Amino acid sequence: MSRFWSKVVHGLTPYTPGEQVRMPGLIKLNTNENPYGPSPKAIAAMQAAADDDLRRYSDPANLAVKDAVAHRLGVQREQVFVGNSSDEVLAHTFQALLKHELPLLLPDISYSFYATYCSLYGITAVPVPLNDRFEIDVEHYTAPCGAVIIANPNAPTGIALPLERIEALLANHRDQVVVVDEAYVDFGGASASALVDRYDNLLVIQTLSKSHSLAGLRVGFAVGHPDLIAGLERVKNSFNCYPLGQVAQAGAVASLDDVEYAAQTSRAVIATRERLTAEMLALGFEVLPSSANFIFVRHPGHDAVTIATGLRERAILVRHFKQPRIDQFLRISIGTDAECAALVDALKKLLA
Ligand SMILES: *Cc1c(COP(=O)(O)O)cnc(C)c1O
Repeated sequence: MSRFWSKVVHGLTPYTPGEQVRMPGLIKLNTNENPYGPSPKAIAAMQAAADDDLRRYSDPANLAVKDAVAHRLGVQREQVFVGNSSDEVLAHTFQALLKHELPLLLPDISYSFYATYCSLYGITAVPVPLNDRFEIDVEHYTAPCGAVIIANPNAPTGIALPLERIEALLANHRDQVVVVDEAYVDFGGASASALVDRYDNLLVIQTLSKSHSLAGLRVGFAVGHPDLIAGLERVKNSFNCYPLGQVAQAGAVASLDDVEYAAQTSRAVIATRERLTAEMLALGFEVLPSSANFIFVRHPGHDAVTIATGLRERAILVRHFKQPRIDQFLRISIGTDAECAALVDALKKLLA
C-alpha cells in the first residue's frame, strides 16, 4: 500500500501465476509448459536474428508473423492480430471489444485472468456456471450481455466443446462479440478459426506458449473479422507500437512454419496424457476428459491440498485453485513420460 497509488491500483486483484521455481531435479507440472523444447528451426532463426539490425525498431505491424499465422490458419493477413503473449492480446481484447453497457458473460470456472482484466478495465462480469459434469453449456448463455468469452478447451478443466456448440453460441449472439481463447486447442480441440469468415462477431485467440513450447518468448495472436482486428490495433497502437522485438518475430515465424515439429510434440503430449489418465484412474482418481496438455483430477478419499503438499515435499509441483466447486481438484500439466512415471510413483506412496 502506498499513498501514491491511484484508486485503480488500490482496487486491483492481480493474477497469481504458477510458481516459477528453479531447482535441480524439480518436476514442474504446475504451469502447463511443454515438456519438450521449441523447434530447432525456431531457435536457429532467433540466433540468426540477434544481429546488428537490433539497433532499429522492429516491424510495428508484425507483418511476417501475421502472414505466418494467416498461412497456417487459412485466413487473410487483415484477419490477424499479433501481441506480446496471448495474455496481452486478451488484455487489449477486454479493453477494445468486451467493455460495454451490458455485462460480459463467462464461465464460473475458467482462466482466472479474465476476472483480473475485468477489475483492471472496470468491466462487469456475470459468471455462468459449468454444468455438473464441469462442461460449458452454451444454452445457459442467455442473459442480456455485451459480449461473451470462453476458453476452448476450457481451463483448468481441459474439457473441449465441439465446433457445432461454438457455432450455436455464435448464432445466438449475432450482435455481441464472442471470444474463444484456444490456448490448448492443438492438444485435441477443434479450432473455431474455421468459422471467422462466417461470423463477424467471432474472435479466436491462440498462443505459442503451449503447443509451440515457446512460453518464454511471449507471442500470442488473434484471428477474426478485419473490423475486430482494427479495434485491437487501435488499442495496441495507443499502448505499445512494438510489442514484439525482431528476435521474437523471427522465432514466431519459424515456429509457425515448422508445422510438423509442433504436431509431433503435441502427439507425444497427448500419448502421455492418455497413459497418465489410465494410471490416475487406476489409483482411484476421478479424471475429467482432457483435450489439453494437463489433466484435472480429484480423489474421493484424499484431500487435494494434502496431496499437493505431499507431492511438493517430493519435489513435484502441481497446481491447486482455492476456489468454490474445484477446491478438491488438482491441475497436473503433462510432463515427459519419466516425469509422469515419477508422479505416479509418488502418488502411490502418498495414498498408501
Ligand atoms: C496459458 C494461457 C494463456 C496465456 O498464454 P500466454 O500467451 O503465455 O500469455 C491464455 N489463456 C489460457 C486459457 C491459458 O491457459
